Amino acid sequence: MQENGINYQDLNLDAALIGGVAFPSMQSCEELSVSTPYGDVPLYLSKIGNRNIALISRHAGDAKHLPPHMINYCANIYAIYKLGIKKIISTNSVGTMKNHPVGSFFLPNDFIDLTRNRPSTFFNERTVHADVSEPYCPQIRDLIKDSLERKNVGFSEGVYVCTEGPRFETKAEIRMMRQFGDVVGMTGLPEVVLAKELNMCYASICTVTNDACGLGNGKMTVSEVLDTLANINEKLQAVILDVLQSLPRQNSCNCMFATSDAEL
Ligand SMILES: [Zn+2]
Repeated sequence: MQENGINYQDLNLDAALIGGVAFPSMQSCEELSVSTPYGDVPLYLSKIGNRNIALISRHAGDAKHLPPHMINYCANIYAIYKLGIKKIISTNSVGTMKNHPVGSFFLPNDFIDLTRNRPSTFFNERTVHADVSEPYCPQIRDLIKDSLERKNVGFSEGVYVCTEGPRFETKAEIRMMRQFGDVVGMTGLPEVVLAKELNMCYASICTVTNDACGLGNGKMTVSEVLDTLANINEKLQAVILDVLQSLPRQNSCNCMFATSDAEL
């Protein structure tokens, strides 16, 4: 794929990071704009350790902070695909609906999609049913868990519930959602599904930044979320560095077959 005078395959990119509010800081980044059928995507190329990576800031845009429901998920994932990258590590911040401590990490192993107004598939012209029985790459999840355990950092696993936002949830909604989910966020979907549709490995490291509405002490604020993030950002970056270094060249997962038998 040739664009910007660059043959993208020559970049030899190992992985993409999609950062949320907790955005890994990097040195010596090269900026690149990748055009897709869904819009142009500004991203950064960098080397972290011995790995070449592309980094997308999910909330970057013309607006100061692009709200969750306005993020161009299709363009972001397609740009990564176009760069020839097969592995994505994403960070998302979530509110806990159960006993996942604020300030800890959460690794989703499944999701419930309650978004309602976002383009959520690449396949509008033909019928393709992606297999999402294992939506988050088990191989990358194991690497993340290994790193967290080695660093003695608290984490838990479970079901991520994604709401449309941008408003926070009502108390009644949280009472309903906690019956089938562990944490709630606004940015995890349809990102993971779009990655699956293009047969890519995708795993998320969520940072638990607050109690879900009605479960904590008083009204939830954005500054509460940002304070927690600042405290755990350093740990997050260390884990991401660790995982990137240990990414295997060979896959032992089935992510690459998510749509291989799905076409009708
Ligand atoms: Zn995988």
